[in-house]
Amino acid sequence: MPTRVTTRGPERTSLDGTRADVLICGASFAGLAVARELAGSGARVLLVDRYAIGERATSACAAPTPWLHALGLQDAIRQELPDMTFTTPHGTARYRLPWSWSAFDYRELCRLLFAQTDARFETAKVHGRTGRIVHTDRGELHAPLIVDALGWRRVLSTSGGYQPPDAPLSRGLEVHPHHAAPDDALDVWVDRSLIRSGYGWRVPAAGEQRVGVGSYAPHDHVKEPTVDLAGRLQVDAVRYQGNWFPHRLRAATEPGVFFVGDSAGHCFPLSGEGIRTALYFGIACGRELRAVHAGEQTPEAALRRYHDFSAAHGRAFRRALRLQQALPRIPPRLLTLGLRALGRRWLVDRSFGWYLRQADPSFATAPVPASRTGAPATPVA
Ligand SMILES: Cc1cc2nc3c(=O)[nH]c(=O)nc-3n(C[C@H](O)[C@H](O)[C@H](O)COP(=O)(O)OP(=O)(O)OC[C@H]3O[C@@H](n4cnc5c(N)ncnc54)[C@H](O)[C@@H]3O)c2cc1C
Repeated sequence: MPTRVTTRGPERTSLDGTRADVLICGASFAGLAVARELAGSGARVLLVDRYAIGERATSACAAPTPWLHALGLQDAIRQELPDMTFTTPHGTARYRLPWSWSAFDYRELCRLLFAQTDARFETAKVHGRTGRIVHTDRGELHAPLIVDALGWRRVLSTSGGYQPPDAPLSRGLEVHPHHAAPDDALDVWVDRSLIRSGYGWRVPAAGEQRVGVGSYAPHDHVKEPTVDLAGRLQVDAVRYQGNWFPHRLRAATEPGVFFVGDSAGHCFPLSGEGIRTALYFGIACGRELRAVHAGEQTPEAALRRYHDFSAAHGRAFRRALRLQQALPRIPPRLLTLGLRALGRRWLVDRSFGWYLRQADPSFATAPVPASRTGAPATPVA
Protein backbone atom coordinates (compact mmCIF):
# COMPACT_ATOMS: atom_id res chain seq x y z
CA MET A 1 0.00 0.00 0.00
CA PRO A 2 1.54 3.34 -1.02
CA THR A 3 2.27 5.94 1.63
CA ARG A 4 0.29 9.10 0.94
CA VAL A 5 0.72 12.57 2.23
CA THR A 6 -1.68 13.43 5.04
CA THR A 7 -5.20 13.37 3.64
CA ARG A 8 -7.06 16.64 3.86
CA GLY A 9 -10.43 18.10 2.93
CA PRO A 10 -12.69 15.87 0.80
CA GLU A 11 -10.12 13.05 0.85
CA ARG A 12 -10.86 12.69 4.53
CA THR A 13 -13.76 10.33 4.02
CA SER A 14 -15.47 8.61 6.90
CA LEU A 15 -13.90 5.48 8.32
CA ASP A 16 -16.80 5.03 10.71
CA GLY A 17 -17.47 1.40 11.54
CA THR A 18 -14.16 0.11 10.11
CA ARG A 19 -13.14 -3.17 11.73
CA ALA A 20 -9.69 -4.68 12.10
CA ASP A 21 -8.16 -7.58 14.00
CA VAL A 22 -5.46 -5.29 15.38
CA LEU A 23 -5.74 -1.51 15.53
CA ILE A 24 -2.41 0.27 16.00
CA CYS A 25 -2.74 3.94 16.86
CA GLY A 26 0.45 5.86 16.06
CA ALA A 27 2.65 5.06 13.06
CA SER A 28 6.09 6.10 14.21
CA PHE A 29 8.81 3.82 15.63
CA ALA A 30 6.67 1.90 18.13
CA GLY A 31 3.55 1.47 15.99
CA LEU A 32 5.48 0.47 12.87
CA ALA A 33 7.50 -2.09 14.85
CA VAL A 34 4.29 -3.71 16.12
CA ALA A 35 2.87 -3.81 12.59
CA ARG A 36 6.10 -5.25 11.19
CA GLU A 37 5.96 -8.11 13.65
CA LEU A 38 2.42 -8.94 12.54
CA ALA A 39 3.33 -9.18 8.84
CA GLY A 40 2.30 -12.48 7.31
CA SER A 41 0.18 -13.45 10.32
CA GLY A 42 -3.06 -13.11 8.37
CA ALA A 43 -4.34 -10.52 10.84
CA ARG A 44 -6.10 -7.47 9.38
CA VAL A 45 -3.91 -4.73 10.81
CA LEU A 46 -5.03 -1.10 10.67
CA LEU A 47 -2.45 1.60 11.43
CA VAL A 48 -3.63 5.15 12.00
CA ASP A 49 -1.74 8.38 12.59
CA ARG A 50 -2.69 12.03 12.36
CA TYR A 51 0.09 12.51 9.80
CA ALA A 52 1.17 10.45 6.81
CA ILE A 53 3.88 7.92 7.60
CA GLY A 54 7.27 9.60 7.98
CA GLU A 55 5.85 13.09 7.50
CA ARG A 56 6.85 14.57 10.90
CA ALA A 57 10.20 13.65 12.38
CA THR A 58 10.01 13.38 16.13
CA SER A 59 13.67 13.22 17.12
CA ALA A 60 17.34 13.69 16.26
CA CYS A 61 17.07 10.24 14.70
CA ALA A 62 20.19 8.64 16.12
CA ALA A 63 19.99 4.94 16.97
CA PRO A 64 22.49 2.12 17.53
CA THR A 65 23.66 0.91 14.11
CA PRO A 66 23.24 -2.82 15.00
CA TRP A 67 19.51 -2.19 15.52
CA LEU A 68 19.11 -0.61 12.09
CA HIS A 69 20.88 -3.57 10.48
CA ALA A 70 18.87 -6.11 12.48
CA LEU A 71 15.66 -4.62 11.08
CA GLY A 72 16.96 -4.23 7.51
CA LEU A 73 16.85 -0.42 7.77
CA GLN A 74 20.46 0.32 6.83
CA ASP A 75 19.44 2.20 3.67
CA ALA A 76 18.03 4.97 5.89
CA ILE A 77 21.44 5.62 7.47
CA ARG A 78 22.91 9.03 6.61
CA GLN A 79 26.05 8.93 8.77
CA GLU A 80 27.62 6.38 11.07
CA LEU A 81 29.03 7.76 14.33
CA PRO A 82 31.59 5.43 15.93
CA ASP A 83 32.63 7.90 18.66
CA MET A 84 31.00 9.92 21.42
CA THR A 85 32.37 13.03 23.06
CA PHE A 86 31.29 14.40 26.44
CA THR A 87 32.16 18.04 27.08
CA THR A 88 31.93 19.85 30.43
CA PRO A 89 33.20 23.36 31.21
CA HIS A 90 36.48 21.68 32.23
CA GLY A 91 37.27 19.48 29.26
CA THR A 92 36.23 16.87 26.73
CA ALA A 93 36.37 13.08 26.93
CA ARG A 94 36.18 11.12 23.69
CA TYR A 95 35.17 7.45 23.56
CA ARG A 96 35.31 4.89 20.76
CA LEU A 97 32.19 2.81 21.43
CA PRO A 98 32.00 -1.00 21.19
CA TRP A 99 29.10 -0.34 18.78
CA SER A 100 28.29 2.79 16.75
CA TRP A 101 25.37 5.19 16.52
CA SER A 102 23.87 6.03 13.15
CA ALA A 103 22.03 9.18 12.19
CA PHE A 104 19.21 8.22 9.87
CA ASP A 105 16.58 9.84 7.68
CA TYR A 106 13.21 9.62 9.45
CA ARG A 107 11.04 9.56 6.35
CA GLU A 108 13.14 6.87 4.72
CA LEU A 109 13.30 4.73 7.85
CA CYS A 110 9.52 4.87 8.27
CA ARG A 111 9.05 4.03 4.60
CA LEU A 112 11.34 1.01 4.91
CA LEU A 113 9.62 -0.17 8.10
CA PHE A 114 6.16 0.24 6.61
CA ALA A 115 7.22 -1.69 3.51
CA GLN A 116 7.90 -4.66 5.79
CA THR A 117 4.31 -4.70 7.05
CA ASP A 118 1.11 -5.74 5.34
CA ALA A 119 -0.93 -3.24 7.32
CA ARG A 120 -3.48 -0.81 5.96
CA PHE A 121 -2.69 2.80 6.81
CA GLU A 122 -5.10 5.70 7.27
CA THR A 123 -4.54 9.22 8.52
CA ALA A 124 -6.85 9.99 11.41
CA LYS A 125 -6.60 11.92 14.64
CA VAL A 126 -7.30 9.70 17.63
CA HIS A 127 -9.40 11.21 20.40
CA GLY A 128 -9.93 8.35 22.84
CA ARG A 129 -11.36 4.92 23.42
CA THR A 130 -14.45 3.23 24.80
CA GLY A 131 -13.75 -0.48 25.26
CA ARG A 132 -12.96 -1.91 21.84
CA ILE A 133 -13.92 1.27 20.00
CA VAL A 134 -11.39 3.98 19.19
CA HIS A 135 -12.82 7.43 18.49
CA THR A 136 -11.15 9.41 15.72
CA ASP A 137 -11.90 12.50 13.64
CA ARG A 138 -12.88 10.10 10.82
CA GLY A 139 -15.26 7.99 12.87
CA GLU A 140 -15.25 5.02 15.20
CA LEU A 141 -12.81 2.16 14.60
CA HIS A 142 -13.41 -1.30 16.07
CA ALA A 143 -10.85 -3.95 17.02
CA PRO A 144 -10.47 -6.63 19.66
CA LEU A 145 -6.75 -5.82 20.00
CA ILE A 146 -5.77 -2.17 20.39
CA VAL A 147 -2.28 -0.65 20.63
CA ASP A 148 -1.49 2.88 21.83
CA ALA A 149 1.77 3.94 20.13
CA LEU A 150 0.77 7.59 20.22
CA GLY A 151 3.65 8.94 22.24
CA TRP A 152 3.85 10.47 25.71
CA ARG A 153 0.23 11.68 25.82
CA ARG A 154 -1.02 8.09 26.22
CA VAL A 155 -4.24 9.11 24.55
CA LEU A 156 -5.99 5.75 24.95
CA SER A 157 -5.51 5.50 28.68
CA THR A 158 -8.66 5.59 30.74
CA SER A 159 -6.73 6.38 33.91
CA GLY A 160 -5.92 9.98 32.99
CA GLY A 161 -3.17 11.33 30.78
CA TYR A 162 0.04 13.19 31.61
CA GLN A 163 -0.02 16.95 31.73
CA PRO A 164 3.29 18.75 31.33
CA PRO A 165 5.04 20.40 33.00
CA ASP A 166 3.91 18.52 36.14
CA ALA A 167 4.42 14.99 34.80
CA PRO A 168 7.67 12.95 34.80
CA LEU A 169 8.61 14.20 31.35
CA SER A 170 11.75 15.71 29.90
CA ARG A 171 11.60 18.22 27.08
CA GLY A 172 13.81 18.64 24.05
CA LEU A 173 14.23 21.09 21.22
CA GLU A 174 16.63 20.99 18.32
CA VAL A 175 17.59 22.79 15.14
CA HIS A 176 18.68 21.19 11.86
CA PRO A 177 21.16 23.48 10.12
CA HIS A 178 22.60 22.49 6.74
CA HIS A 179 26.24 22.41 7.81
CA ALA A 180 28.45 19.33 7.77
CA ALA A 181 29.73 18.57 11.29
CA PRO A 182 33.51 18.65 11.86
CA ASP A 183 33.76 14.88 12.42
CA ASP A 184 31.85 11.68 13.02
CA ALA A 185 31.22 11.77 16.77
CA LEU A 186 27.91 12.13 18.57
CA ASP A 187 28.70 15.10 20.83
CA VAL A 188 27.15 15.66 24.25
CA TRP A 189 27.50 18.74 26.48
CA VAL A 190 26.87 18.61 30.21
CA ASP A 191 27.22 22.25 31.17
CA ARG A 192 25.08 24.20 33.63
CA SER A 193 25.76 27.42 31.78
CA LEU A 194 23.82 25.82 28.91
CA ILE A 195 21.10 23.93 30.79
CA ARG A 196 20.66 23.57 34.55
CA SER A 197 19.50 19.96 34.53
CA GLY A 198 20.00 18.20 31.23
CA TYR A 199 22.38 18.12 28.31
CA GLY A 200 23.03 19.37 24.80
CA TRP A 201 23.82 17.29 21.73
CA ARG A 202 25.03 17.43 18.17
CA VAL A 203 24.19 14.57 15.81
CA PRO A 204 26.06 14.85 12.50
CA ALA A 205 23.91 13.57 9.63
CA ALA A 206 25.85 13.88 6.36
CA GLY A 207 25.23 17.45 5.13
CA GLU A 208 23.20 18.45 8.17
CA GLN A 209 23.53 18.59 11.93
CA ARG A 210 20.89 18.03 14.57
CA VAL A 211 21.78 20.35 17.42
CA GLY A 212 19.58 20.41 20.49
CA VAL A 213 19.13 20.65 24.22
CA GLY A 214 17.11 18.44 26.55
CA SER A 215 15.97 19.36 30.03
CA TYR A 216 15.16 16.75 32.66
CA ALA A 217 13.31 19.51 34.54
CA PRO A 218 10.05 19.98 32.66
CA HIS A 219 9.57 23.55 33.93
CA ASP A 220 12.83 24.73 32.35
CA HIS A 221 12.56 26.09 28.83
CA VAL A 222 14.88 24.83 26.12
CA LYS A 223 14.54 27.40 23.33
CA GLU A 224 17.16 29.81 24.66
CA PRO A 225 19.69 27.03 25.46
CA THR A 226 19.21 25.53 21.99
CA VAL A 227 19.88 28.88 20.31
CA ASP A 228 22.85 29.32 22.67
CA LEU A 229 24.34 25.93 21.69
CA ALA A 230 23.80 26.62 17.97
CA GLY A 231 25.61 29.94 18.48
CA ARG A 232 28.50 28.27 20.28
CA LEU A 233 28.80 25.81 17.38
CA GLN A 234 28.45 28.63 14.83
CA VAL A 235 25.52 27.04 13.03
CA ASP A 236 22.18 28.59 12.12
CA ALA A 237 19.26 28.04 14.50
CA VAL A 238 16.86 26.93 11.76
CA ARG A 239 14.29 24.16 11.16
CA TYR A 240 13.17 23.69 14.77
CA GLN A 241 11.52 20.62 16.17
CA GLY A 242 10.77 19.68 19.73
CA ASN A 243 8.66 17.52 21.97
CA TRP A 244 8.28 16.08 25.45
CA PHE A 245 9.64 12.62 26.18
CA PRO A 246 9.01 10.47 29.26
CA HIS A 247 11.64 9.51 31.80
CA ARG A 248 9.62 7.08 33.89
CA LEU A 249 8.32 3.65 32.95
CA ARG A 250 4.52 3.35 33.10
CA ALA A 251 2.21 0.33 33.11
CA ALA A 252 2.49 -1.17 29.63
CA THR A 253 -1.13 -2.33 29.62
CA GLU A 254 -4.58 -1.37 30.80
CA PRO A 255 -7.62 -3.59 30.29
CA GLY A 256 -8.01 -3.92 26.53
CA VAL A 257 -5.01 -1.85 25.42
CA PHE A 258 -1.27 -2.29 24.92
CA PHE A 259 1.01 0.75 25.34
CA VAL A 260 4.28 0.81 23.41
CA GLY A 261 7.13 3.31 23.16
CA ASP A 262 6.78 6.73 24.78
CA SER A 263 3.16 6.01 25.75
CA ALA A 264 4.54 3.35 28.13
CA GLY A 265 7.49 5.48 29.23
CA HIS A 266 9.84 3.28 27.22
CA CYS A 267 12.26 6.16 26.57
CA PHE A 268 15.45 5.48 28.52
CA PRO A 269 16.07 8.04 31.30
CA LEU A 270 19.43 9.86 31.39
CA SER A 271 20.11 9.47 27.66
CA GLY A 272 16.57 10.25 26.48
CA GLU A 273 17.02 7.47 23.93
CA GLY A 274 13.59 6.21 22.91
CA ILE A 275 13.81 4.95 19.32
CA ARG A 276 15.60 1.68 20.01
CA THR A 277 13.32 0.93 22.96
CA ALA A 278 10.18 1.79 20.95
CA LEU A 279 11.32 -0.74 18.33
CA TYR A 280 12.23 -3.31 20.98
CA PHE A 281 8.99 -3.15 22.95
CA GLY A 282 7.06 -2.85 19.69
CA ILE A 283 8.50 -6.18 18.57
CA ALA A 284 7.66 -7.74 21.96
CA CYS A 285 4.09 -6.48 21.73
CA GLY A 286 3.71 -7.59 18.10
CA ARG A 287 4.83 -11.11 19.01
CA GLU A 288 2.19 -11.38 21.72
CA LEU A 289 -0.53 -10.10 19.39
CA ARG A 290 0.57 -12.50 16.69
CA ALA A 291 0.18 -15.40 19.09
CA VAL A 292 -3.34 -14.25 19.95
CA HIS A 293 -4.27 -14.13 16.28
CA ALA A 294 -2.81 -17.63 15.79
CA GLY A 295 -5.03 -18.90 18.61
CA GLU A 296 -2.03 -19.75 20.79
CA GLN A 297 -3.07 -17.52 23.66
CA THR A 298 -5.95 -15.37 24.83
CA PRO A 299 -5.88 -11.55 24.65
CA GLU A 300 -5.77 -11.51 28.47
CA ALA A 301 -2.69 -13.75 28.50
CA ALA A 302 -1.04 -11.47 25.91
CA LEU A 303 -1.77 -8.41 28.05
CA ARG A 304 -0.34 -10.11 31.11
CA ARG A 305 2.80 -11.37 29.35
CA TYR A 306 3.53 -8.06 27.65
CA HIS A 307 2.95 -6.17 30.90
CA ASP A 308 5.36 -8.47 32.71
CA PHE A 309 7.95 -8.22 29.94
CA SER A 310 7.94 -4.44 30.13
CA ALA A 311 7.95 -4.36 33.93
CA ALA A 312 10.92 -6.73 34.02
CA HIS A 313 13.01 -3.84 32.63
CA GLY A 314 12.08 -1.66 35.58
CA ARG A 315 15.40 -2.08 37.35
CA ALA A 316 17.47 -0.76 34.45
CA PHE A 317 15.09 2.15 33.91
CA ARG A 318 15.17 3.03 37.62
CA ARG A 319 18.96 2.86 37.66
CA ALA A 320 19.14 5.24 34.70
CA LEU A 321 16.64 7.57 36.37
CA ARG A 322 18.75 7.69 39.54
CA LEU A 323 21.77 8.65 37.42
CA GLN A 324 19.68 11.28 35.67
CA GLN A 325 18.70 12.75 39.04
CA ALA A 326 22.29 12.63 40.32
CA LEU A 327 23.95 14.13 37.22
CA PRO A 328 23.01 17.80 37.83
CA ARG A 329 24.28 17.54 41.43
CA ILE A 330 27.77 16.25 40.58
CA PRO A 331 30.34 19.08 40.85
CA PRO A 332 31.51 19.80 37.26
CA ARG A 333 35.21 19.18 37.99
CA LEU A 334 34.40 15.81 39.55
CA LEU A 335 32.17 14.95 36.59
CA THR A 336 35.01 15.79 34.20
CA LEU A 337 37.38 13.51 36.11
CA GLY A 338 34.75 10.76 36.16
CA LEU A 339 34.16 11.03 32.41
CA ARG A 340 37.89 10.84 31.76
CA ALA A 341 38.21 7.80 34.03
CA LEU A 342 35.31 6.11 32.23
CA GLY A 343 37.28 6.48 29.00
CA ARG A 344 39.41 3.41 29.71
CA ARG A 345 38.79 0.85 26.99
CA TRP A 346 37.45 -1.90 29.25
CA LEU A 347 35.16 0.52 31.09
CA VAL A 348 33.74 1.96 27.88
CA ASP A 349 33.14 -1.56 26.55
CA ARG A 350 31.55 -2.66 29.78
CA SER A 351 29.27 0.33 30.40
CA PHE A 352 28.15 0.82 26.80
CA GLY A 353 27.82 -2.95 26.40
CA TRP A 354 25.47 -3.02 29.42
CA TYR A 355 23.56 -0.10 28.02
CA LEU A 356 22.99 -1.76 24.63
CA ARG A 357 21.96 -5.06 26.22
CA GLN A 358 19.00 -3.41 27.97
CA ALA A 359 17.28 -3.52 24.57
CA ASP A 360 19.61 -5.76 22.61
CA PRO A 361 19.51 -5.89 18.80
CA SER A 362 19.60 -9.72 18.93
CA PHE A 363 16.00 -9.50 20.17
CA ALA A 364 14.89 -8.34 16.73
CA THR A 365 16.09 -11.52 15.08
CA ALA A 366 15.51 -13.98 17.95
CA PRO A 367 13.33 -16.94 17.02
CA VAL A 368 9.79 -16.61 18.35
CA PRO A 369 9.11 -19.38 20.91
CA ALA A 370 6.78 -22.07 19.58
CA SER A 371 4.81 -22.21 22.82
CA ARG A 372 3.36 -19.22 24.58
CA THR A 373 2.68 -21.09 27.77
CA GLY A 374 6.02 -20.39 29.42
CA ALA A 375 7.17 -17.25 31.19
CA PRO A 376 7.86 -14.23 29.01
CA ALA A 377 11.45 -13.70 27.96
CA THR A 378 13.28 -11.72 30.62
CA PRO A 379 15.69 -8.92 29.77
CA VAL A 380 19.41 -9.14 30.26
CA ALA A 381 20.32 -7.69 33.65
C1 LIG B 1 14.19 16.86 20.31
C2 LIG B 1 14.21 15.38 20.54
C3 LIG B 1 15.27 14.61 20.03
C4 LIG B 1 15.31 13.24 20.27
N1 LIG B 1 16.34 12.52 19.73
C5 LIG B 1 16.38 11.18 19.89
C6 LIG B 1 17.42 10.42 19.27
O1 LIG B 1 18.26 10.93 18.54
N2 LIG B 1 17.44 9.08 19.50
C7 LIG B 1 16.49 8.46 20.27
O2 LIG B 1 16.56 7.24 20.42
N3 LIG B 1 15.47 9.15 20.83
C8 LIG B 1 15.38 10.49 20.65
N4 LIG B 1 14.34 11.21 21.19
C9 LIG B 1 13.26 10.47 21.87
C10 LIG B 1 12.37 9.82 20.77
O3 LIG B 1 11.98 10.82 19.84
C11 LIG B 1 11.10 9.16 21.32
O4 LIG B 1 11.40 8.40 22.46
C12 LIG B 1 10.51 8.26 20.21
O5 LIG B 1 10.10 9.08 19.13
C13 LIG B 1 9.33 7.44 20.74
O6 LIG B 1 8.74 6.76 19.66
P1 LIG B 1 7.17 6.44 19.65
O7 LIG B 1 6.91 5.72 18.39
O8 LIG B 1 6.79 5.82 20.95
O9 LIG B 1 6.47 7.87 19.68
P2 LIG B 1 6.51 9.04 18.62
O10 LIG B 1 7.73 8.96 17.79
O11 LIG B 1 6.26 10.30 19.40
O12 LIG B 1 5.28 8.75 17.67
C14 LIG B 1 3.95 8.97 18.04
C15 LIG B 1 3.13 8.97 16.79
O13 LIG B 1 1.76 9.13 17.16
C16 LIG B 1 1.16 10.14 16.37
N5 LIG B 1 0.12 10.77 17.18
C17 LIG B 1 0.26 11.41 18.36
N6 LIG B 1 -0.93 11.79 18.83
C18 LIG B 1 -1.86 11.39 17.91
C19 LIG B 1 -3.28 11.45 17.86
N7 LIG B 1 -4.01 12.02 18.81
N8 LIG B 1 -3.90 10.90 16.79
C20 LIG B 1 -3.17 10.30 15.81
N9 LIG B 1 -1.85 10.19 15.82
C21 LIG B 1 -1.19 10.74 16.86
C22 LIG B 1 2.30 11.08 16.00
O14 LIG B 1 2.00 11.78 14.80
C23 LIG B 1 3.46 10.12 15.84
O15 LIG B 1 3.59 9.63 14.52
C24 LIG B 1 14.27 12.60 21.00
C25 LIG B 1 13.21 13.35 21.50
C26 LIG B 1 13.17 14.73 21.26
C27 LIG B 1 12.02 15.53 21.79
